Amino acid sequence: MDLVPIPYAPLPIKLRDNRQYVNYLPKQPIISIMQDMNKKQRYERQIVLPEIGQKGQKKISNASVLCIGAGGLGCPALLYLVAAGVGHVGIVDFDTVDETNLQRQVLFTVDQIGQNKAVAAKERLNALNSEIKIQAYAEELNDKNAEDLFRQYDIIIDGTDNFSAKFLINDVAVKIGKPFVYASILGFDGQVAVFNYDGGPCYRCLFPEAPKTYVPNCAEAGVIGAVAGMIGTAQAMEALKIIVGHDSFQPLAGKLWTIDMHSMENKLLSLPKNLDCPTCSQAKDKITLQYSSSVCGVIPEVTPEQAKKNEGALIIDVRETEEWGAGHIHDAKHIALSTLMQGTIPDLPTDCEIILYCQKGKRGEHAAQILKTQGYLNVNNMVGGYEAWLSDHSPPVEKKTSRNI
Ligand SMILES: [Zn+2]
Repeated sequence: MDLVPIPYAPLPIKLRDNRQYVNYLPKQPIISIMQDMNKKQRYERQIVLPEIGQKGQKKISNASVLCIGAGGLGCPALLYLVAAGVGHVGIVDFDTVDETNLQRQVLFTVDQIGQNKAVAAKERLNALNSEIKIQAYAEELNDKNAEDLFRQYDIIIDGTDNFSAKFLINDVAVKIGKPFVYASILGFDGQVAVFNYDGGPCYRCLFPEAPKTYVPNCAEAGVIGAVAGMIGTAQAMEALKIIVGHDSFQPLAGKLWTIDMHSMENKLLSLPKNLDCPTCSQAKDKITLQYSSSVCGVIPEVTPEQAKKNEGALIIDVRETEEWGAGHIHDAKHIALSTLMQGTIPDLPTDCEIILYCQKGKRGEHAAQILKTQGYLNVNNMVGGYEAWLSDHSPPVEKKTSRNI
């Protein structure tokens, strides 16, 4: 602390040589000094670590982290980042808190049910640490807003649960050169990696595209809150390692850490950079962003009349074999919903609209949700299903081409 003499001395100090009275006040205002002392006290348990120290704490205070999703992963990650004093934290989530979230999304309380998650998380995190800047974005991350949001932060935390969002996070991170901390959980398994950091691989080096087998989400497969808690906490630790950058730290760049919590057996796998990666092997300005919302209820609907007029669309019947055998739309392909749910996802064209139908419309919507999570961007559900098609008397247009799948 630099001390400077001031002419006015409310509590004068007599110097040894008796020549003058001076008082010493620091250049910093008193309130600011007290804040610094409080900060030091708040973070003293981590400052005392030789790997962190005052220097590391300063880096943490100057760092900014954007967390995509305040769910099972985002909640613990945010708690530890905010508690550690990361100076600027952003939270992106369009969803609202519901009762089924409380089992694992530990930021939220019963009285926050119905509130937007980003806003509710900010409220709770502000109560934990009011000295940092926390911003809530009550919106869905998409190909339009992602770039602008990412530019405002140093590190991105991926707390999402679907391939479309993970590919978008990866592609934007590579495009504008930000590291991101990836994680994924399913049942008792978890995995964490740091992508696009220090010349390491990106997510698409590992998964160039969504798997062709259907991967259920947490709502379908189930998850224990503590599993999400451990993995989200590991994400916070990786972000702090990147921020502090001590020589002894080895962030999970080029590595995938996996753990099976049945046995606590964990592995550290090497992830080489894929020189033919569809994202990071390209020039940055050639990376195009795509996003397919996984939000339930946003599957676009078409009427039978619109479906009949759509010459280029691929129409898929998702009913079961007996229903298909009893009558179906001419030119339609048959892929039963039960087949999709068992994990068999056929190769479908990506250059045309896909229209799904079932008997009345409900199963078509479910099938569309499955295809959207697999990265098919242009999927529609025919409202009212086959029954509505039969009662619609508009003439069908002859298909220009017959599509094979
Ligand atoms: Zn890559």
